[in-house]
Amino acid sequence: MRVLVTGGAGYIGSHVVKALGERGHEIAVYDNLSSGNRWAVLYGDLIHAELEDSNVLKSVLVNFKPDAVMHFAAHIIVPESVRNPLKYYLNNTVNTINLLRLMRECNVGLFVFSSTAAVYGIVETAPVPEGAPLHPINPYGTSKMMTESVLADLALADQDFRYTSLRYFNVAGADGSGRIGQAYRESTHLITRSLKTAKGEFPKLEIFGTDYPTPDGTCIRDYIHVDDLADAHILALDYLTGGGGSQVMNCGYGHGYSVRQVVEMAKKVTGVDFRAEDAPRREGDPPELVADSRKLKNMLGWKPGFDDLEYIIKTAWQWERKRS
Ligand code: UDP
Repeated sequence: MRVLVTGGAGYIGSHVVKALGERGHEIAVYDNLSSGNRWAVLYGDLIHAELEDSNVLKSVLVNFKPDAVMHFAAHIIVPESVRNPLKYYLNNTVNTINLLRLMRECNVGLFVFSSTAAVYGIVETAPVPEGAPLHPINPYGTSKMMTESVLADLALADQDFRYTSLRYFNVAGADGSGRIGQAYRESTHLITRSLKTAKGEFPKLEIFGTDYPTPDGTCIRDYIHVDDLADAHILALDYLTGGGGSQVMNCGYGHGYSVRQVVEMAKKVTGVDFRAEDAPRREGDPPELVADSRKLKNMLGWKPGFDDLEYIIKTAWQWERKRS
């Protein structure tokens, strides 16, 4: 297969490129390197260009002639999306629509889309199934939800277009051999922040909210290892190539860990008893966000290989320690 991977130099994209490369697919990565890195592209050619540049994008579609496009290029910082919504709607929604238009002009009909559990908003049910109502609470989640609507309409109207939209839960960990990992310096994610605190980059970790209706009062999330997520993308591609119809699927393990459990595990893995302080709730955090991932397992045959918080944090720590 020839696969065009937008955002393939980023955290999740680079792990998918690795998985595609290991399976012998031909890859072209399209990335503006705004948050990705050239060294993260382990397979295929890198085209350093803007997604909004229709001329370059079209020439890549014409010349590389991909069988499928996997689309990771997006902005993903929730607070930034609140401050600067147009940036999110323009890149995550408008640029994706433009990519779809060019794909169809060039007769490319298979699409794997990076979506997010943020489309659900504050959920009442755990685990949350794909059919749950979508009530995103920030422009990031809305920008992804809008794109999902476009995809659904396009697939209805156009027999030759099929897609899978993969809704990611809390992606974490790094390549087991330590070559690639989360390289975004300003990451505010819990595991990255905990490890950077263990490294001494921050004086303390704040635990945002300790009075949630959960067993230990802190929020519960479904942490999925990035290599298992990459594997889900390979299966989604195989499914589409094999003639499968358009689908939306949750990507998570179906169970979660509390913030305190993650912090304890980060202390165990690093061997550093770093400072972790109780702090007020962070706005917009649902108490529990766990994937009902039966669809991914039953329909695609996905079998997680790394459903183990210790392994997730170990690989993230191995990666984090390699970084200056
Ligand atoms: N969290 C925390 N301290 C931090 C970062 C995150 O207590 O420094 C909590 C956050 O409030 C949420 C959970 O950890 O309950 C996971 O947050 P993260 O930002 O990693 O992912 P999200 O679920 O928001 O996508």
